[in-house]
Amino acid sequence: MGRGKNTSLMLGEESKNAVEEAEVISTGARSKASRRETLANSTFYVVLLVAVSNFVTYTVTKVSSARPAKFTGPGAAALAVVDPGLKEFHVVNAHEHLYKRSHLDKYLKACKATGIERTLFVASSARTLMGSGFGIAEYNEKNSRDILNAAKEMPERIIPFCTLRPGDPGNLEKLKAYVAEGAKGLKLYSGHAQFYEKPLDTEEMLPIYAYCEESGLPICWHVNMRLYGKEFRRVMARFPELTVIIPHFGVTFYNPKGRSFRAFQELLDTYPNLYTDTSFGTRGILVNGLGMVSRHRDVFRAFFEKYSDRILFGTDMVVTGNPEKTEGWIEAVLRACRDVLEKDTYYFYMAARGSNYALRGWPNPYGMLRGLALEDEILQKVYETNAARLFPAE
Ligand SMILES: [Zn+2]
Repeated sequence: MGRGKNTSLMLGEESKNAVEEAEVISTGARSKASRRETLANSTFYVVLLVAVSNFVTYTVTKVSSARPAKFTGPGAAALAVVDPGLKEFHVVNAHEHLYKRSHLDKYLKACKATGIERTLFVASSARTLMGSGFGIAEYNEKNSRDILNAAKEMPERIIPFCTLRPGDPGNLEKLKAYVAEGAKGLKLYSGHAQFYEKPLDTEEMLPIYAYCEESGLPICWHVNMRLYGKEFRRVMARFPELTVIIPHFGVTFYNPKGRSFRAFQELLDTYPNLYTDTSFGTRGILVNGLGMVSRHRDVFRAFFEKYSDRILFGTDMVVTGNPEKTEGWIEAVLRACRDVLEKDTYYFYMAARGSNYALRGWPNPYGMLRGLALEDEILQKVYETNAARLFPAE
């Protein structure tokens, strides 16, 4: 990054010197012999041509390697020097929420700018979509239907997961009907402190787990390992073939050197169909998660290296009509979620001092964070291969 900037400055200096030098030679040459003048002039043009072509080659290389950022207009080349852009992958976002169909277009535009080709939308209750003042019993069916309809409209772009509230009557029949309509998985929130109503291995849910294991239907299941790890382990002991994606590293990212994070890894070692995703949550939770990665790069890098076959890319920003969540906001979040994996250093305005979500006590005026700079081989698994294995393209 810094090297690139210097190179361009140097090129500018060099070509300027070349012009001055050539002028000196040609002035001196004019008074002596015309042969020397011709020689001096041709030297001038050769030097100028080399300098210009070097600069053009440099600029074109920089800009083209910045895809899929596709910044255009004045200053695009300069921006590409500051931020080399995102790598070229066919990214699947395996964790996002969508409130209404009318909020989808801005999200898809931001995806286009950030190389995200398919998105797994998990259906949610009113609490997730409208805020903590709303219920966990409301809206589950409505949102499940809306996500299914969006996926029918754009099967190549949307992977639909429906949701159930444990204990609701007729859950198994409902789930089977969703699958018949195209659902590719089930989303459960029951291991989230705000959604927890009964033990994860409650009798009522056993037929659901049995059906998912039998049919290979994946569950995206928010399980806080610190709070409900034991209950989750009991479920896995009964249904060891279940395919489960536990987002947010089992919510252990708050303490990457703690016991729960290690316990989560032991579960991954025991059950080959257990996955996690790279999402943290929305706004303040996201900034917090990115901050943890920035401070504990060694721990996270080791995790990605060891479990690269079991990690999915996810964002979890919750796409709604909240006026803060504009297309630009969505794009910035998608970019930060990729930057943390791809880059050694990156900037995210929400982490900057003065932002509502900046980390307290972190003197970070520019929102600069350290990323994992993962190898392409790992990125490819996290972005593409693992998702393609679970959700083959239609
Ligand atoms: Zn989520």
